[in-house]
Amino acid sequence: MPLKLDIVTPERTVLSEDGLDIVIAPGSEGQLGILPSHTPLLTTLGIGELRARRGTEELTMVISGGFLEVRNNVVTIIADVAERAEEIDIDRARGARERAASSLATREDDIDVAATQAALRRALMRLRVAERYTRRAGSGRRGMPGSTE
Ligand code: ATP
Repeated sequence: MPLKLDIVTPERTVLSEDGLDIVIAPGSEGQLGILPSHTPLLTTLGIGELRARRGTEELTMVISGGFLEVRNNVVTIIADVAERAEEIDIDRARGARERAASSLATREDDIDVAATQAALRRALMRLRVAERYTRRAGSGRRGMPGSTE
């Protein structure tokens, strides 16, 4: 029995994919590898990369915060933020990285340090996922239907 993966955010349904061999998600305590027949699980998510594979196809996303549930070979993610690799706006992420890094360096304006550190980590993760995706797309590796990977 393969896995189904549903990802929603408060704003939208990000994806619904079936027939997956594995889902690797950024749990708040570290990476979680979920294979078919996984035991039921409910856990929280951190900031990181989510990957799902179906045969030789791979889907890559950035996830930030939320919950992951596994039940009956269905992985449901309710994330604060989720973007597919091909949706990431690299210039925007670079801008967010610079803003967060310079606020942390100067500690001006009584910034919320934890929130700014989280914004920096999101921006760095977006850049990492988008850059790897661009390299792979250039090498002709296939992504899942619906992506241009
Ligand atoms: P920014 O300062 O650029 O707004 P942020 O870290 O404050 O970045 P988030 O709070 O993480 O932004 O996300 C707000 C919304 O904008 C979410 O819907 C998220 O998916 C989207 N988003 C943020 N940055 C990007 C990006 N670089 N590319 C695509 N979507 C993005």
